[in-house]
Amino acid sequence: MLHNDKLEQWDRENFFHPSTHLAEFALGTAPHRVITSGSGCHIEDRDGNRLLDAFAGLYCVNVGYGRAGIAEAIAEQARELAYYHAYVGHGTEASITLAKMVLDRAPDHMSKVYFGLSGSDANETNIKLIWYYNNILGRPEKKKIISRWRGYHGSGLMTGSLTGLELFHKKFDLPLPHVLHTTAPDYFRRADLDQSEAQFVAQCVADLEKQIKAEGADTIAAFIGEPVLGTGGIVPPPAGYWSAIQAVLDKHDILLIADEVVTGFGRLGTMFGSDHYGMKPDLITIAKGLTSAYAPLSGSIVSDKMWRVLEQGTDENGPIGHGWTYSAHPIGAAAGIANLGLIDDLNLIRNAGTVGADLNARMRAALADHPHVGDVRGEGMICAVEFVKDKSDRVFFDAADKIGPQVAANLLEHDKIIARAMPQGDILGFAPPFCLTVEEVDQIVAATARAVKEVLG
Ligand code: PLP
Repeated sequence: MLHNDKLEQWDRENFFHPSTHLAEFALGTAPHRVITSGSGCHIEDRDGNRLLDAFAGLYCVNVGYGRAGIAEAIAEQARELAYYHAYVGHGTEASITLAKMVLDRAPDHMSKVYFGLSGSDANETNIKLIWYYNNILGRPEKKKIISRWRGYHGSGLMTGSLTGLELFHKKFDLPLPHVLHTTAPDYFRRADLDQSEAQFVAQCVADLEKQIKAEGADTIAAFIGEPVLGTGGIVPPPAGYWSAIQAVLDKHDILLIADEVVTGFGRLGTMFGSDHYGMKPDLITIAKGLTSAYAPLSGSIVSDKMWRVLEQGTDENGPIGHGWTYSAHPIGAAAGIANLGLIDDLNLIRNAGTVGADLNARMRAALADHPHVGDVRGEGMICAVEFVKDKSDRVFFDAADKIGPQVAANLLEHDKIIARAMPQGDILGFAPPFCLTVEEVDQIVAATARAVKEVLG
């Protein structure tokens, strides 16, 4: 392809990039990078740099880049039928087949899947379905949603409210009413350093119980959580957390949404995080790994229990007043079928579990003793390193020091490895494609140890 000399200028003049410092980008002081191709765990930019993408895009290219089978499935679907809607009982062979494939993989008590386009819109759907459900059951007051600080559920109006990160609320007039936040299940960041993990779980449960009591259980509709906190810092739950939370929710008839946008379809080495932690959700949010981001597609998987009430609702009120033009888009569905098939054929979930365990173990061995590494944690093919100013008293760095971003930038510059500086805290995140090899694990761990030494001594 001809090299377009104006591309950077066009980019800075015209393109509103998400999650970007707008003024610095327009001025030219924030980086601009154009990605041109990808294969396996690597991408290339148009300056000819070959980068090891240890975050799989935004933890979504789970099968890796350049999978010809998925590209062909998309092309074939586009040629045969690029679009038809899914309203009033319409479907395509692709959307119907994918619905079956999703349900075949979901926990047994799940009943149907509604397809959207993004994790954010899937969570919007979930909240609407929950409100509808409680209205049909004659409990119009039971509408509030409890999320967790450090949870991430999207950046729409409702989903940005559910997200428990300051950046997504500040100056946007969020969170909206109806949304409450409870304690983040982040043992490393516990307020009381003397607490054991079990005591900390008891604290999370007590905080939740207290909030439910203060608000009244008859006003709380649902609890939403990622099996493993993702964007909020890549934090696996403390042992026993989910079973203890589930018991509280069951006691108060509060629905559970498992937001599996990151964990769904294998990232933890199991099909779903709900299986991994024994959660029994009423709704499961899926997106990223459903198509490995080869095309935009998300979904809300609905339990038997909720489905029965939704059916009753349409008997009473007529067709469900919910849908997008692009719900169950056939091109996304074709990508999903090819993607889930490939995950099975290449046994990629097993690889995510074994190579991911290796990544976590070796990262811990290489970095846990460093005086400025407070925590190394992860599960399956997801891993994080959290930096602290003072380890013995767990004193964090000032955010203005940008330690996490500095380490990520160093890793990119010297070793051409992409890790993600997570948005809140000095936390370096890794979530590579499932096809990562042990040689690539070596490379990532050695480079991270070098970058940490260079930035922090
Ligand atoms: N839920 C979780 C757990 C996520 O990690 C994300 C995105 O990272 C979302 C929801 C939102 O998905 P999207 O960016 O596709 O709207």
